[in-house]
Amino acid sequence: MADIIKKLAPHVANLIAAGEVVQRPASVIKELCENSADAGAKNITVEFTDGAMTFLRVSDDGCGMSPGDAVMAFQRHATSKISDGDDLDRIMTHGFRGEALASIAAVSRIDLMTRLKGSIEGTSVSLEGGSVTENIPAGCPEGTTIIVRDIFFNTPARMKYVKKNTTEAAAAVTAVQLQALAHPEISFRLIRDGREVFHTAGAGDLKSAIYDVCGREFAAGLTEVKGSYNDVEIAGYVTRPTASRGTRSGQHFIVNARPISSKLLTSALEEGCKTRIPISRYPGCVIRITVKPTSVDVNVHPAKQEVKFSREREVYDSLYYAVLSAMTGDEGRPEMQLKPPVKDIVKTAQITNQTTVKAEPKSDMTFRSMTVEDYRRMMEKAAAISDKTAQKAVIPAPIPTAAERDEPRPEPPKAPVMPAVIPEEPLREEPPVPVKEEAPQGPEQQSLPLPGADVPYYKYIGEAFDTYIIIEEKTGLLLIDKHAAHERIMFEKLKESEGPPMSQLLIVPEIVKLSPKEAQAILSHTDEMAEAGFEVEDMGDDCVMVRQIPSFMEPGDILPVLEEMAEELLKGRNKPSTQRKERLLYTLACHSAIRAGSRSDPAELRKLAEEVLTRPDVRYCPHGRPVTVSLTRAQLERQFGR
Ligand code: ADP
Ligand code: MG
Repeated sequence: MADIIKKLAPHVANLIAAGEVVQRPASVIKELCENSADAGAKNITVEFTDGAMTFLRVSDDGCGMSPGDAVMAFQRHATSKISDGDDLDRIMTHGFRGEALASIAAVSRIDLMTRLKGSIEGTSVSLEGGSVTENIPAGCPEGTTIIVRDIFFNTPARMKYVKKNTTEAAAAVTAVQLQALAHPEISFRLIRDGREVFHTAGAGDLKSAIYDVCGREFAAGLTEVKGSYNDVEIAGYVTRPTASRGTRSGQHFIVNARPISSKLLTSALEEGCKTRIPISRYPGCVIRITVKPTSVDVNVHPAKQEVKFSREREVYDSLYYAVLSAMTGDEGRPEMQLKPPVKDIVKTAQITNQTTVKAEPKSDMTFRSMTVEDYRRMMEKAAAISDKTAQKAVIPAPIPTAAERDEPRPEPPKAPVMPAVIPEEPLREEPPVPVKEEAPQGPEQQSLPLPGADVPYYKYIGEAFDTYIIIEEKTGLLLIDKHAAHERIMFEKLKESEGPPMSQLLIVPEIVKLSPKEAQAILSHTDEMAEAGFEVEDMGDDCVMVRQIPSFMEPGDILPVLEEMAEELLKGRNKPSTQRKERLLYTLACHSAIRAGSRSDPAELRKLAEEVLTRPDVRYCPHGRPVTVSLTRAQLERQFGR
């Protein structure tokens, strides 16, 4: 048989290579911008119309090319950036394969105009499907302009994979945004259909680039991330929990000035934010990671969108701890957003008077006139009443679950704290501020959560609208959303406890009718339900019999809680069971937390305030809403013109 293997003609080889490099107009934009950045450009303008398939122009003021290089640049494997294999280990430029221009040219029509810095004359080269159709001297500005038209005009098969114009345009915009974020030192200008989309300053400041590229709102929700560990440098910004997002689209990682996607980095980021961001919300970020060129292999992806770190653990830890400390670091609590003081101060004072709750002088007086002994007696009395009321909430005393009856189990964890019941009678007079030294170790102190660290100075002022606890701190006023705070605390406690929460057996089991889907979800996860403190049984006809519920839960809440839990189980179908469990606990925390608008015992609110004041993790509720808002003394003084 005759030989059948032939070497492919260069234009066919280029077409094949183009398949890897050029997937859509956005990939062309990325390659051209990277070339401009490698050419030392200070300004890069990207312009396109429609979906960037028919017209796309990238101009830069970089070093430009000589007439010879202007043609050579389109040859496959022609590059000025590396010359031998060793260079691959110390790549400092974006490009190095010498493939991009050849690949782009193979599937489009190109006009290139370029002039070397300092040359009097430039060059104009045109290509169609990779073949040079014109090569003439031309007058043009220093730097390089490339126009790419009719992408895939000669490869109709590839056209099928191109999406509609708006989708391609969106991807093109994203590609320029990523480049602008990766290079705050370059001024990027994006013009789409004749209109400027954004224009970065190019002054080297990442925050300002984020502001220009991602908008004011995204930039305002960010907090700084900084850290370094061995040779890994982390710098950038992550969204505060309140600014978390519904998708991962706001996560941007830049490794040695290359925008890349990386599961490793995503997971380090999300782990670092984990306890602060509600389930099914994601942090956004723009984080630059700088490592030694020898510690990262950029040659693992044809479009260089992924990289391989030689010491993954080190990179993971560096990012994780940097994010964690940004989240726990004292970035302060959300401050109340006030309008600048209006000229008519009297008018403002009147308005404010209607809406603010004044400090009750009585409680302050009590504080000053009460002795430690008085205070202790009062706390003990209150604790006794509180115990009585707490017992009322639980139908019978906790009875072991079916599983516990069969085999011995370690002591169940303490029932989550803060009785969900609202006392029917006022417990006591306004007690004084439980300042650290005076805090008694009465029974109530044992049954309610103890703040983990020293309680800083605070004065309990009162509660507004049965919702907001008002606290005076050293530097200002703190408003605490009691539901959000309690919800967060409950959630953390439930999550930390090792076994299921303590349960109450219902005297009369409750039968709830659910939708077929909901019933199926609950009944096919009885183990997970048991871990959340529920014993449920199938009664047929989409009815579920509930024999046991967590002790802190109100029996009246069974139906809504079960419905929500079913929804969470359905949503978490394909997720790992640990995530499903978190979702269930989150539902429980939400339903058992004190409700906004309900009456609460001031002692209970004080305890809650102390937890908030001492625990850095109680900043946001599991929905990501703030637990507190602070109004600093300085803000108040400004408002009152003091
Ligand atoms: P690579 O970037 O991998 O070297 P390319 O095909 O993207 O390969 O580019 C080939 C060469 O063309 C580059 O090495 C560079 O010398 C030159 N070049 C491309 N774009 C520009 C530009 N905007 N300004 C100056 N030189 C450029
Ligand atoms: Mg290149």
